[in-house]
Amino acid sequence: MSSDHSIPPGGTIGILGGGQLGRMTALAAAQLGYRVHIFTPEQDSPASHVSDGVTIAAYEDEAALDRFARQVDVVTLEFENIPASPVRFLSERVPVRPGPRVLEIAQDRLAEKRFFNELGIKTAPWREVKSAGDLEAAFGEIGAPCVLKTARLGYDGKGQAKITSAADLAGAWAGLGTNLGILEGFISFDCEVSALVARGLDGSWAAWDVVQNVHTNHILDTTSAPALLSQPVLDQAVAIAHRAAEALDLVGVLAVEMFLTRDGRLLVNEMAPRPHNSGHWTIDACLTSQFEQVVRAVCGLPLGTPKRHSDAVMTNLIGDMAEAWESYLHEPNAKLHLYGKAERRQGRKMGHVTRLYPLGRRPHS
Ligand code: AMP
Repeated sequence: MSSDHSIPPGGTIGILGGGQLGRMTALAAAQLGYRVHIFTPEQDSPASHVSDGVTIAAYEDEAALDRFARQVDVVTLEFENIPASPVRFLSERVPVRPGPRVLEIAQDRLAEKRFFNELGIKTAPWREVKSAGDLEAAFGEIGAPCVLKTARLGYDGKGQAKITSAADLAGAWAGLGTNLGILEGFISFDCEVSALVARGLDGSWAAWDVVQNVHTNHILDTTSAPALLSQPVLDQAVAIAHRAAEALDLVGVLAVEMFLTRDGRLLVNEMAPRPHNSGHWTIDACLTSQFEQVVRAVCGLPLGTPKRHSDAVMTNLIGDMAEAWESYLHEPNAKLHLYGKAERRQGRKMGHVTRLYPLGRRPHS
């Protein structure tokens, strides 16, 4: 259903996925008077704890999807590795925002790179790799260092291997675990940034301040807001994200992660058509958070102002780090967010803490 009607408070938002992004979206939805129904294959999911309804079923379960579609007024998603066919199935029954086409591009690194390059937006050099022979040829063109990634279903560094010489090729291919990969030139970057924009049902848009990210072991460690970079670079980062959102005809929130190279160029790494970890700081430091904004966008409400009232540094609480929850509560400028995950695993995001500073006063990272 490509209906462009809006859903007033009191309606029910369906969310595909039950993780922390769904949880924080559900909290924002409740504040605006909406109900939320989560669809997830996961038992005891973080989002289900704070939602009105939950369907626990496989994404391919059409009977469950059909029931879900009847119980909600609009569907959005909190993670993009959902198979496209259930999203298409739902979109024939209820508005799905963002729609299946956006998802198909965002969940495939090859399609994503093509999408940006076709818009004239630069990325790392890349080649599609479908066999050990392709990998060798691509390595010959791109050279070392480079990184082999699975084209699909990869996140937080899963399914990635760095290649520093031809001797790494066979091991990297064998370790990929699939026969559709992408070889990317490894970028020696000055820093990583992300630009986060929202686009409403009426095409209006809003951008938060561009932020600077630090990853450790491929997982986001900290986000500092705002990024302390020159105005032309900041403007360009926002323009890239806005251009992508327009080209996708996106309704919702779009995060675009980029590398800033040592010679000052912005290269897109990837995008996420949903609230993003690098936007969590907006809950505590902006007039409108990314979660409130996605609710406004998908329900067809006017977008809120993304203005930043504080500087912020967000730190992910990964694995054991969440054990120190009490110490964060003693910090006067820290806001603690825990996701209610019962099982602690290495590398698992258990929560985050956002430290607030007066405007212009955040520590330099
Ligand atoms: P990804 O899974 O693509 O989000 O990658 C996670 C992190 O790995 C990125 O944020 C970077 O820190 C690093 N990384 C991924 N691809 C590259 C690349 N082509 N060059 C340099 N660093 C990369």
